[in-house]
Amino acid sequence: MTTQAQKTGGTPTGGDSHAVVIGASMAGLLAARVLADYFDRVTIVERDELPDGPLARRGVPQGRHVHSVLAKGDRIMERLFPGLFQTLLQEGAELIDLANDMSWHHFGVTKLKFASGVGMYTLSRPFLEWHVRKRLADCPNVRLFDQCKVLGFATNSDRTRITGIDIRLDNAICQDDRQGRDEALKADLVVDASGRSSRTPQWLEELGYAKPRESVINVNVGYATRFYRRPPGADNEWRVLLVYPTPPAEKRLGVIFPVEENRWMATLAGWVGDHPPDDEQGYLEFARSLSTLDFYTAVKDAEPLGPIVTHKFPSNLRRHYENLDQFPEGLVVLGDALCSFNPVYGQGMTTAAMAASILGECLERQRKSGEDSTAMTRRFRKMSNKAVDAAWMIAASEDFRYPAVGRAPLSTNLINRYFHRVHELGSCDPEVHRRFLQVMTMIKPASTIFHPKVIWRVLTSRLPEKFNKEQKHVYSETPQTF
Ligand SMILES: Cc1cc2nc3c(=O)[nH]c(=O)nc-3n(C[C@H](O)[C@H](O)[C@H](O)COP(=O)(O)OP(=O)(O)OC[C@H]3O[C@@H](n4cnc5c(N)ncnc54)[C@H](O)[C@@H]3O)c2cc1C
Repeated sequence: MTTQAQKTGGTPTGGDSHAVVIGASMAGLLAARVLADYFDRVTIVERDELPDGPLARRGVPQGRHVHSVLAKGDRIMERLFPGLFQTLLQEGAELIDLANDMSWHHFGVTKLKFASGVGMYTLSRPFLEWHVRKRLADCPNVRLFDQCKVLGFATNSDRTRITGIDIRLDNAICQDDRQGRDEALKADLVVDASGRSSRTPQWLEELGYAKPRESVINVNVGYATRFYRRPPGADNEWRVLLVYPTPPAEKRLGVIFPVEENRWMATLAGWVGDHPPDDEQGYLEFARSLSTLDFYTAVKDAEPLGPIVTHKFPSNLRRHYENLDQFPEGLVVLGDALCSFNPVYGQGMTTAAMAASILGECLERQRKSGEDSTAMTRRFRKMSNKAVDAAWMIAASEDFRYPAVGRAPLSTNLINRYFHRVHELGSCDPEVHRRFLQVMTMIKPASTIFHPKVIWRVLTSRLPEKFNKEQKHVYSETPQTF
């Protein structure tokens, strides 16, 4: 039997194939751009009122904190929106070299400065999202309804296929008697990009399916962020500052990013309950307690441009849809709704971009082979799970350095010991550090850092004596308490 959903994987042909995306944050916007090449119409439904500018909003509270796009993620975004990053640079974003332009203190050493060729754009999260949203508005077959809350899935009579979504119309554009009413929106494919608090597990259960198994690693991370005016001459020694801890004894980190409008975004964070406070004195005390004084020295006399805002992040959370035996046709889950990582590693938007790209691959294959949509969504679940795996391995392994997170498997302890040495060698071995940066930004596979040459250097190299002395000098200036 050929269902309507089975006909969907083609080029828009003037027919009426329709995909719906729940959530207009980064995962939803990127997925919508991909879907626009395969469906006649794409509708994004977003609960929030979307601002016409680079402003933070309620549904994405994390947007008020430092967000880095890893190189793999910006490559995908650039492919989906050619020229996007050129525009971002013209409007105030910056491109930095992750070794040359960054002062990065981690595991008790400061990383070497050299031209690594591994770049990163620095910008605020609302600024990125707003630009992506504007570019998506250029796609003639994509429409976005904000202030519309998705209430659940609509299905066919035997509940084997998702046929759309039920929505609440709160949108001001519905200035007719439909405002405030619940309606159904029919779709051939529904993409859940509604973030960590996705209701898909509950909605599936209500339809008689099993909920996906969840992997949870409690990290209890707290963030506190403040904007400062970027002081004149601030770039003399670094453009980005990272002061990271040596776990498990140290739990605190500080990051300063240059962002648009000549501002610094200064974020403090702490693992396993050691959270930075939101009052001025507490914030500075926390800054002063980091493993070097660089963050504190930078912000103590800088001009604040707003209040200190905080955010708490409980756990890495992964939903294993790939393992479900029964799954309805016509549904895809991606972004934080699929896997939400400890934000300290900056992987969320990049894995969302990778999932959007994988969705494109699956739809392309469906178009070419004519396979049905059940096979397409099954393939997507498997491939997106694999993509999430690499990022999950990094986040989960690193977090297990803190005993309060839980007992790590033996393999994790071995990997962590290896990476501890890799981090230390980042202070004196450019080749090891370059490879690490390539893996960290996901542009090269993990095997890059497990190459026999690197393993040999990790096992045999010693940190130069001179360097150790310099580091001790830094430590001696660092107060243990405020
Ligand atoms: C403090 C913090 C810092 C972070 N830093 C980084 C970083 O440096 N780099 C990085 O790559 N990632 C970072 N992340 C993660 C990143 O923010 C997310 O991975 C990214 O936003 C992609 O998420 P998403 O689009 O899947 O979901 P979200 O961003 O959570 O968006 C979900 C959207 O769905 C909407 N929605 C929810 N329910 C409904 C509904 N029922 N109906 C309609 N709409 C709905 C919401 O309003 C929202 O717009 C960080 C996260 C946190 C918490």
